[in-house]
Amino acid sequence: MSVTFRRTGDRFGMIPMSAIAACDVKVNTLCKLIDPKAEFDPLLVLSLIYNAAKKSPGVSVSDNNFWIQSQRPYSVEAVDLALQRWSGKSNPIEVNGVFVPCVMEDELKTISLNLSHNEHYMGDIVSTLSTIDSSHVVVSRTVGKASSEMRLYFSAPNVQYVSDISNNVVACLGDGNIECLINKRASYISGQTIYGDAILANVGYTRRDSELRTEDVTLSTYYRILLGKLPDGNYKMSRDSILVAELPSAYSRSSWKGLSPRDLLCSFCRVQRLAEPCFSVNRVGSSFEVLGSAVSSEVIGVPKNAEKPDMFKCEVKIYSKQHALLVEYSMADTWGKESDAIHNSSLKVLIWFNSYFKQLNKHVENVSLSKNTDGLTIYPEKFLQEFFMCLCIYGNTGDDDSRTCNTVGSLSTDTSKPKLENYATLAHIDGPDSGVFPSHGSLTCICYTASLVVKDKAKSYLLESNNEFEFEIGIGAVRNQIESCVTQLSVNQTACFVAEMPPRDLILAAATEFSDDLSKICRDNCFLEFVVKVLQVSEPLEDRMEKALFNPPLSKQRVEFAVRHISEMHATTLVDFGCGSGSLLDSLLEHSTTLEKVVGVDISLKGLTRAAKSLHQKLSKNSLTQMNVPAAVLYDGSITDFDSRLYRFDIGTCLEVIEHVEEDQATLFGNVVLSSFCPTVLIVSTPNYEYNPIIQRSAMPNKNDEQEENTGPCKFRNHDHKFEWTRSQFQHWATDLSVKHNYSVEFSGVGGSGEEPGFASQIAVFRRLPSNQEEICYDRELHQPYELLWEWGNASLPFQ
Ligand code: SAH
Ligand code: MG
Repeated sequence: MSVTFRRTGDRFGMIPMSAIAACDVKVNTLCKLIDPKAEFDPLLVLSLIYNAAKKSPGVSVSDNNFWIQSQRPYSVEAVDLALQRWSGKSNPIEVNGVFVPCVMEDELKTISLNLSHNEHYMGDIVSTLSTIDSSHVVVSRTVGKASSEMRLYFSAPNVQYVSDISNNVVACLGDGNIECLINKRASYISGQTIYGDAILANVGYTRRDSELRTEDVTLSTYYRILLGKLPDGNYKMSRDSILVAELPSAYSRSSWKGLSPRDLLCSFCRVQRLAEPCFSVNRVGSSFEVLGSAVSSEVIGVPKNAEKPDMFKCEVKIYSKQHALLVEYSMADTWGKESDAIHNSSLKVLIWFNSYFKQLNKHVENVSLSKNTDGLTIYPEKFLQEFFMCLCIYGNTGDDDSRTCNTVGSLSTDTSKPKLENYATLAHIDGPDSGVFPSHGSLTCICYTASLVVKDKAKSYLLESNNEFEFEIGIGAVRNQIESCVTQLSVNQTACFVAEMPPRDLILAAATEFSDDLSKICRDNCFLEFVVKVLQVSEPLEDRMEKALFNPPLSKQRVEFAVRHISEMHATTLVDFGCGSGSLLDSLLEHSTTLEKVVGVDISLKGLTRAAKSLHQKLSKNSLTQMNVPAAVLYDGSITDFDSRLYRFDIGTCLEVIEHVEEDQATLFGNVVLSSFCPTVLIVSTPNYEYNPIIQRSAMPNKNDEQEENTGPCKFRNHDHKFEWTRSQFQHWATDLSVKHNYSVEFSGVGGSGEEPGFASQIAVFRRLPSNQEEICYDRELHQPYELLWEWGNASLPFQ
């Protein structure tokens, strides 16, 4: 009204109906009652208002524009009152907006708008949209945060066309015609149907304020809104790390950073205009019954123990606004805490959505909606209806953004296929090796910068930087190459590497300052450069617990257990299956034993390399002090393959390894080791699942009560664990093997007293029983799949 009374001439006292459509809540509610589609279609609202006004006495509307005017003249008091609210500022304000062309092939661009207070702020918007006058500018609801005044502005078609919309005439006449006018990008980010070219601008009066509020909208604003609509977008933004952070594949209270999975799922549903997700948590009385059936159908006689703590599982349902079921998640997995169950289930659903969106990006032609995967049920018909817009958006831009993305090294011409780089080739590493390195499951704190480098101009743009960014290794919480880089470094080392270009949308969302420049840059000529420094590493949860809760630490107790058996049987040869970074071999060298040869086998080169380093150090030191030094060898190989060089060793150890492979592989290992390697004694240790509640109840050190909620273990002790067995499950596994291969087996353990609920780490000791069977003579050349990685001393091999 203020604006309208400041006008002189014909337009005095006239109000654009589109302003009523955009701002009048009562009118909007009425429109929605008349036609529910009005919620998603501002043009329909305009049409309903226009047609109603036409029939209303007391107001006049014209046949060729959307002004509305009272037929009675306004009272002087009313005019004065309205003008009083006018702050009277007259300096024009310049503000940036983004022009969103209707044609998908056309680029978005930043535009500068000159807003004049005297007129109405729409002046420049009208001319940029080449509209007849401001009554023809239609305004969307607010985009993004509820408090913002960011809206999309577009031009209404002619009056006849608009008035026909609410009479359903348009729909019957030329559906195809209007379809091609729909601005897909603008419609997608606003959740309303936007027609033709549009302008995204943040300008308006808030309810109480007479001052015009403005804020610049840049390309990066637009791309951040777009990113916020992706299942992992809010995660990246909540971590303030768009180019580096990835939605982790596992949830644990202690290591999760950023918005929680539940909040992420809720906000995803909100921005996708779905109903709030529905969580239903069930208490599971006997957790082990559930676990047993989930782990293995072969397990029999699993005790149903009423004293066991309650466990929870959580189902998630995703509905459309119209309450059509779209996605349902239900899994047998159970968790010790209600919130853990909710977050884990939420994460599963988010991960599924994420893979669905990624798939859209890649091959639109054959998007598949598999109906039932991993506890998820998808209802394709309703689902595709709801996500139709996503198909339009990502289907069309997929070409530019992901298919032709170049990888470093093939920058010049090869645009054939994107190569997924998982490994970071480090150009150079700065700083000495501190010996403290990030490993699987450890929390690592890094600082990094990510810059876009334009090759021929030798220019670089800093896109993202972070002084302190913490994440857990091994759960996919960052870009693959970052993790690869970090695991090649030790604390205080810095390295630099180049990486493939991420999708253009991501670059532009990250680049707050130069998004205009960057939108014009030719991708073929660019690469991304990361500089990463490792600041701090805290050990994996499992290790932290083992040290905090047990004295001596569990790992030490395992070593002592092995040493006892070595001295008992005067063993001279030992092989450690799954030796990792060599903690057992390393500690064995600190004791004087009868051992003459120790061998470690693992499939992790990183682990083996570390083992080699520390063994080398220790052996060199020991040989100086004239200590009895056994020969030592490290092999790169899988413990499910037989290698004749390790046939009939005195002792085989396999400590905390089997739970890192799938159950069938654990059984395969058991069969291979007892039937082919045939050690005299085999020691196998694995976590006792029944002990976990005790670990979970014990407070972590250095944490106060307030933080208690945020700490605590995941379901298993380590994310890499594929299973953790109860005592009876483990004993079943071991007994079967021993009977089959003519071994005896005894059960024991370390950590705790061994009374209910058993030891923290359960151990099986197998002993080969005398048999009439002949020793098998292996063709040594044929059975050597292991690769020698490192060797100390040249003591001759046994049984040569
Ligand atoms: N025994 C060590 C390490 C335990 S962590 C200790 O007690 O500290 C588990 C180890 O098993 C990891 O180093 C992993 O690389 C290794 N591993 C997993 N699957 C394997 C396989 N099939 N063959 C060999 N090693 C394997
Ligand atoms: Mg383990």
